[in-house]
Amino acid sequence: MTYQRVLLKLSGEALMGNLGYGIDPKVVADIAQEIKDVIDHGIQLAIVVGGGNIFRGVKAASAGMDRATADYVGMIATVMNAMTLQDALEQMGVPTRVLTAIAMQEVAEPYIRRRAIRHLEKGRVIVFGAGSGNPFFTTDTTAALRAAEIDAEVVFKATKVDGVYDCDPQLNPNARRYESLTYSHVLAHDLRVMDGTAIALCKENDIPIIVFDLSVPGNIVRAIKGESVGTIVGG
Ligand code: UDP
Repeated sequence: MTYQRVLLKLSGEALMGNLGYGIDPKVVADIAQEIKDVIDHGIQLAIVVGGGNIFRGVKAASAGMDRATADYVGMIATVMNAMTLQDALEQMGVPTRVLTAIAMQEVAEPYIRRRAIRHLEKGRVIVFGAGSGNPFFTTDTTAALRAAEIDAEVVFKATKVDGVYDCDPQLNPNARRYESLTYSHVLAHDLRVMDGTAIALCKENDIPIIVFDLSVPGNIVRAIKGESVGTIVGG
């Protein structure tokens, strides 16, 4: 295995499937199965889950809501996703802990870095909910931050496409997929891999990012083995 401790970023939309909103239980079960395969290989896995399938702060703010308040709602939306994912994982026998950046002690543990690392060492999947706990940030940035904090060797950015392209492959049939990219190239060309803050944090901490298609079964394990599954962003 190329990687032993991995931070997986799942967007909220990954849990939505083809629904326009919310959570598709079948899709969540499929993702949980993929995650179980990772754990069965003895890999330590931490997940940051987004909330865009339920609520996005920026969107609500553009409709007139106070931005910080809207972002807090967005963060709480991610906790719903985190708990749903935990349920699906535990139904498959995968011990899972949700750790939230906003305390909700009746439903999840508060995020404590040392505790998160201990869970990983014991083979538990950890799911980080409530983003970074700060408005004006994203769950992509949270993924980069938590990866640095827990000493993850890599960030897996699971998406709906098989990597990063020089232009939109849906619009341009000649779009070219990058095998690898530097952080600086991503930032300079504003490529939509993750937001700029997330890229900058990964760059500073020398954490590679692998962008790949989550809907292809076995992709997470393939990426852990070091096989080429998408685009790798590095130094
Ligand atoms: N959010 C936030 N701070 C964070 C992470 C998330 O304020 O550290 C809010 C923000 O409003 C965001 C929402 O939570 O729109 C959902 O997260 P995100 O949009 O990153 O989810 P994804 O696009 O991955 O589904």
